[in-house]
Amino acid sequence: MQTNNNELNILNNKNKPSQEEKKELKEKIITYTWERDSHGLFDYENTNYYTQYFDPENKFLLRNNNENLNNKIVLSSLENESFQTLCKIKILNNNKIFLSTKIEQNLPINTNTLNALQEKIWYVIRPSYHDYKHRFNSSYEYELKKNDILKLGRIKFIVKELNIVEGNSESSIETFIPYEVNNNQNIENQEKCRICYSTDNTEDNPMISVCKCKGSMNLHFECLKLWLNSQLIKTDFKGQLGVSYTVKKFNCELCHEPYPLTIKIKNKLYNLLNYVIPEGQNYVVLQSLNSIKENEYPLNIHVLMFIENETNYTLGRGHDSDIRISDISVSRNHARIFMKNRKYYMEDMNSKFGTLVLAKNDVSLSNHNIFQIGRTLVFLGKEKKPETEIQKFKKYFENVDIE
Ligand SMILES: [Zn+2]
Ligand SMILES: [Zn+2]
Repeated sequence: MQTNNNELNILNNKNKPSQEEKKELKEKIITYTWERDSHGLFDYENTNYYTQYFDPENKFLLRNNNENLNNKIVLSSLENESFQTLCKIKILNNNKIFLSTKIEQNLPINTNTLNALQEKIWYVIRPSYHDYKHRFNSSYEYELKKNDILKLGRIKFIVKELNIVEGNSESSIETFIPYEVNNNQNIENQEKCRICYSTDNTEDNPMISVCKCKGSMNLHFECLKLWLNSQLIKTDFKGQLGVSYTVKKFNCELCHEPYPLTIKIKNKLYNLLNYVIPEGQNYVVLQSLNSIKENEYPLNIHVLMFIENETNYTLGRGHDSDIRISDISVSRNHARIFMKNRKYYMEDMNSKFGTLVLAKNDVSLSNHNIFQIGRTLVFLGKEKKPETEIQKFKKYFENVDIE
């Protein structure tokens, strides 16, 4: 059968989008919401998610639609009490689209603040989503910064310290004021320490009140420190390059509030845990940010030393991981941290529930950056064009035998 070239050309031209259609193809804010409501997790291996497209020019709010059974993220211009506003959408003069967010500095670590973080904006360390087959497969290296909050599945960590020997200071720029620093306490001189019953209150051993039992639960800094360190378990790994410090119950016996790791009194810092920071070495210190479970707040500090371009720490649920995280939301081989060109990087190892970094300021939406809010992914992309009537008609005839 002979093909008619003219006819083909016409067909090809027809397939090119017209000006009107091009307009429709402009970038939209795309959200993928995982169908299962599972504590703010998004399953990167699953394809059961609900897709929505939003026009960024409407400068709407991204919010949770609580009235909807599925609790999907919706965009709305209405400020409504029954909706929880997740973030605002900003468009700057250069047409760049931003998700607007603000994280409280000096955030106290307790169950409420940790759970509330779930609904904040998280940067996803895994940018590729275009191709169906490789949608979530590509890896991406994220440069770690001091005080970054990391999330592997539902397990959170803070980059407590970060040091590069004779390194450029750029990598160790602090973007957050350190967490967990309690401010000056005013303890009356007559108050007794709950542990030693003495009323001494000196600069070296101040009386502190660091949980919710304020006023009724006064302790000497040294008394509390001695008690907590008596429960400290130290384990090393990777030929002693890495050391983990664990206290199973780093919280008050009565109110169960986690104790701060560092206390600030009259501009002096007091550390409640004896962990050793290596001098003159490359290192990263990770602190776990767990939730209280059965009245216990476990604390883990991981001090990781690095030999540049050599050391590589794996994090995961598997037995062979350097930092083992026993949680079902953490993949066996979840993520890794390594040092390259005098910088520290985190890489996702194709985990099921992703490796995320908490966004502290406004974040730029582009088709290279994916963000996660609760169980929804947010990114910029092109909307799939709905089928036209002609296409439907053609498809129909392709599937019908004409006799
Ligand atoms: Zn005491
Ligand atoms: Zn207490």
